[in-house]
Amino acid sequence: MRIYLDYAATTPTDPRVLDAMRPYFGEVFGNASSLHVFGQEARAAVDRARRVLAQALGCQPSEVVFTSGATESDNWALVGTALACEARGRHVVVSSVEHKAVLEPARFLASRGFAVTLLPVDRFGQVDPDDVRRALRDDTVLLSVMHANNEVGTLQPVAEVARIARERGVLVHTDATQTFGALPVDVDALGVDLLSASAHKRYGPKGVGLLYVRRGTRIEPLLRGGAHERGRRAGTENVPGIVGFARAVELALAEREAEQARVGALRDRLLAGLLAIEGAVLNGHPTARLPNNANVSFEGVSSEALLLSLDLRGLAASSGSACTAGSLEPSHVLAAMGLPREQVEGAVRFTLGRWTTEQEVDAAVEMVREAVGELRAASGRRKFRVRS
Ligand SMILES: *Cc1c(COP(=O)(O)O)cnc(C)c1O
Repeated sequence: MRIYLDYAATTPTDPRVLDAMRPYFGEVFGNASSLHVFGQEARAAVDRARRVLAQALGCQPSEVVFTSGATESDNWALVGTALACEARGRHVVVSSVEHKAVLEPARFLASRGFAVTLLPVDRFGQVDPDDVRRALRDDTVLLSVMHANNEVGTLQPVAEVARIARERGVLVHTDATQTFGALPVDVDALGVDLLSASAHKRYGPKGVGLLYVRRGTRIEPLLRGGAHERGRRAGTENVPGIVGFARAVELALAEREAEQARVGALRDRLLAGLLAIEGAVLNGHPTARLPNNANVSFEGVSSEALLLSLDLRGLAASSGSACTAGSLEPSHVLAAMGLPREQVEGAVRFTLGRWTTEQEVDAAVEMVREAVGELRAASGRRKFRVRS
């Protein structure tokens, strides 16, 4: 039995999405920029997809720019606005629990002489709007606060901090990769100027995403070399990927409420089982969190040892962001939350999705219980041997 509880890292492409994409690898292979009928067919498919995604976001199709994924969208939002607004100011504010795709471009900007303020979070991983108010300066050009955290699932008060920033004329970016298609994401309700999303986190293909850019927002392109995407992002459009992204979001929205209820109930069942294990604690916000996320630390057990043991048993989970897994680097998110070191090093993220079943959840709880017990027994024996 193999159980996948790592849907926050990536999701399988829904077979219905694959069906929608297939023609665009074959008959409809044209370059969307070509004038002939081959190109026009591809162009029509891209335009249709853009309308679907714009409707999902509550924006105009012209405000949706296709990218290679949320990493590119985040990089572009940070660096593109900082460069475009340089004459006005050289200060950006980002939360300390952002994905590395936001934090690293912020660090790059700092290395080029921009001032960067990292917002603290509370022990649940939430930003305090008063800290945002204090962080903004006359030369601040951008605030970036994610919609929901990919490691601990905590939701941020994006609408509230966006209101504060926009009153000061500061652009607002949110990374909505974990929420787009799963929770309501409306750019006007959130009050953001820029928003990142990715197809492969919502049962679409890997390698395609979008950046919403509110009309009139000043942003420099990162990719130059063609007039694609109204001159904002050069490069031949990934037509099958774009078609798949739109189909995936269409399906996600049509099934959102039913799926959210189903997955939420399974997550609660999983969490009840895991927290019944002695020395287990929940990381992240108890209620303001993604419906599919359970991040738990087990006292006296390192996440790496536990993940290896679970993998051997057939259960795939994660220690947080896939990008830092495999390295010993502790989670910057849990560290920013001020959790004790042992809790940071013991955190395991279980994320559920479209194909998770109750049987899988129950089996997963048993696997974790066994693995935690074995690891604790082994470390107890080791301690005993050292002493004797
Ligand atoms: C996965 C993820 C990204 C990166 O998205 P890619 O499309 O894989 O580049 C960025 N931000 C968040 C919050 C994510 O979960």
